[in-house]
Amino acid sequence: MKQISVASPNLNGNEKRYVNDCMDTTQISSGGGGKYIVEFERAFAEFCECKYAASCCNGTVALHLALLALGIKEGDEVIMPVITYIATANAVRYVNATPVFTDVDKDGWNIDVKKIEEKITPNTKAIIVVHLYGNPVDMDAVMEIAKNHNLYVIEDAAEAHGAVYKGKKVGSIGDIGTFSFFGNKVITTGEGGMVTTQNEQIDRKVRLLKGQGVDAQKRYWHLAVGYNYRMTNLEAAIGLGQLENIEEHIANRIKIRQKYYSLLEPYSDYMEFQKTTAQSISINWMTSIIFTSKVKLDRDTICRKLEERGVETRPVFYPINSMPPYKDNESFPVAKYIAERGINLPTHDLLKEEDVEFICNCLLDIIGLME
Ligand SMILES: *Cc1c(COP(=O)(O)O)cnc(C)c1O
Repeated sequence: MKQISVASPNLNGNEKRYVNDCMDTTQISSGGGGKYIVEFERAFAEFCECKYAASCCNGTVALHLALLALGIKEGDEVIMPVITYIATANAVRYVNATPVFTDVDKDGWNIDVKKIEEKITPNTKAIIVVHLYGNPVDMDAVMEIAKNHNLYVIEDAAEAHGAVYKGKKVGSIGDIGTFSFFGNKVITTGEGGMVTTQNEQIDRKVRLLKGQGVDAQKRYWHLAVGYNYRMTNLEAAIGLGQLENIEEHIANRIKIRQKYYSLLEPYSDYMEFQKTTAQSISINWMTSIIFTSKVKLDRDTICRKLEERGVETRPVFYPINSMPPYKDNESFPVAKYIAERGINLPTHDLLKEEDVEFICNCLLDIIGLME
């Protein structure tokens, strides 16, 4: 039986050649200013329209570094959406600050910007926005609120490499952008991350902290309690190969969404898509749909039946405050609706048009819509 996975990397560029170069030269680690690290950071900064980009070992520590660089600490509150990957909240806990959850909007599934201000207290220091599944947040509204209340803005762009808001790349708009290069992301290094900024001071702080706090001028002289959060040259070699083809990777994702839309649009009474506004370009990390109340089967049953036919899907992220480490009783009705009824459909570079047709046919058959 055909197996269709929800995500898969496409390593069809120079990745292997660059990795072999690392092997041949023994430059596999992170020391000595590895040439692929330097080049990957330079090219990624350019791609994101940012002055600075600092590599690190994954997207979670990219968030940790961002919070540390901004001086977020115990007693501080950080506003964030209640629907995101768990790492966004965990990073806030790593610095002993408190994540303050906010409901999401029912169209774009991102933080509901109309509900941010009611969450602000004298302890609020920052807002982390998450461009969920590659769909840009309404950044003008967020930046306006941040300016009025003197708050930092971190863009968790782990799912949104190359997404555009009003002509600007995500990760270039807030004080800091963070990215992940995990195996299922838009581009991958296996494990990896990046911290982007337009601010030299912030970039310097991030670099200090990710490299054990060592003085840039004096070896083995440490100025702060830092971390070993470095990316290896080997990972950066893969990343550079990936980045060279990122426009093609993104175009493929957008094409896949269009194919899904064209096949599922006639059933819009039964399924709603995550919506993008006219001012944004979503890079469609995961094509995502919600089953409306007209669908009688529950979401998990639909996923299981798709799995039986070889089609892997994922549920939309659970609201963070429904899980043990963050459990509270605050209700987020929109998040609840989306999380109970939403799924991510297979979305990756190697997926073919006929795969999308097969997936849609399975889905329509399972929910009883095939004539
Ligand atoms: C993947 C992801 C992260 C974490 O990245 P890792 O590289 O897996 O540590 C953080 N935030 C969001 C929104 C993500 O999707």
